Amino acid sequence: MARRVNPKIEALTPYQPGKPVDEVTRELGLTDVIKLASNENPRGPGELVRKAIDGACGDLARYPDGNAFALKRALAQHLGVRESQLTVGNGSNDVLDLAARMSISPGAQAVISEHAFVVYRLATLSAGGELVVVPARDYGADLDGFLDAITDATAIVFLANPNNPTGTWVDEAALGRFLDAVPGHVWVVLDEAYHEYVEAAGYPNGMELQRRYSNLIVTRTFSKIHGLAALRVGFSVSSEEAADLMNRARQPFNVNAPAMAAAVAALDDQEFVQESRRLNLEGMDQVCEGIARLGLDLIPSVGNFVSFDVGGPSFPIYEALLERGVIVRPIAEYGLPDHLRVTVGLPEENARFLAALELVLGKPESCC
Ligand code: PMP
Repeated sequence: MARRVNPKIEALTPYQPGKPVDEVTRELGLTDVIKLASNENPRGPGELVRKAIDGACGDLARYPDGNAFALKRALAQHLGVRESQLTVGNGSNDVLDLAARMSISPGAQAVISEHAFVVYRLATLSAGGELVVVPARDYGADLDGFLDAITDATAIVFLANPNNPTGTWVDEAALGRFLDAVPGHVWVVLDEAYHEYVEAAGYPNGMELQRRYSNLIVTRTFSKIHGLAALRVGFSVSSEEAADLMNRARQPFNVNAPAMAAAVAALDDQEFVQESRRLNLEGMDQVCEGIARLGLDLIPSVGNFVSFDVGGPSFPIYEALLERGVIVRPIAEYGLPDHLRVTVGLPEENARFLAALELVLGKPESCC
């Protein structure tokens, strides 16, 4: 007899992470591999953070603080919010999952954009919900389309600002109009995983919006600009009501002790954040100019990554780059089979990526 399986889980497509360096090294026998595939900070964490991690490894036999007291205190001070508004997670993916589980009863709907970050789909379907996908406009979220898609059955909306993998964003005026119009029974998750990278005029600050809209749940992460993707720490700021509900659904001890210590130290080191932002903006120019010189179209991005159109199926180009020791990300699963996404790396990594891309496409950079 067939064992019982939750059909919603069986129907899921597993998340496809960027290929780890070790795997490429092992499989292709290469020694000098660079990874520009998962939107990590190429600098790694700062020195103060590394010290904090070392300091937190002295008592690994003990469970971490399940209420994340020190981390919540540091976040509350840093962001000007109450500790009771915070929910911490094993990466912000964990918090996105909690938001889905907190709000979605079987059959309820989540509204997302075409090309949206894939975890919204996973979290919604795992929670027994249904997805309503709104066609993108210029690769970005069409907020009028979102409003049209919201019904009595809608429990939650997920919106990344900027979105991964498109790098597109919504401005303060458009987001304010949207939040004003969203019916009161709907939660809105504003995913700000990359917000520290954004310098564009009119880019909204989720924390300010959260003060005005009690249905807004703003998620952020230590995986990106803080360089802590391996440790897995993220959080949300929401109403106390939402935080209370998400914390009920949260696994005990979902964030480990070295990760919490690292996150507290990372908040203290804003110089590191500023320098990482500066390096990313320079690197973004370098990468975008190089891609444009090769005659390829790209989707303008305000994150630490950019997606570009290779003019045909991108998977063979991805594989050819892998053979040259450069890991990028094919994004067919996001409905963009002709695009690749590359993370902005260190200047020398960006140069190596561009040189490899030029070779693979068979176009000398000077020709176009
Ligand atoms: N949101 C977006 C838009 C992302 O791109 C990512 C990472 N790929 C996350 C959330 C989750 O990151 P983490 O779980 O590492 O915080």
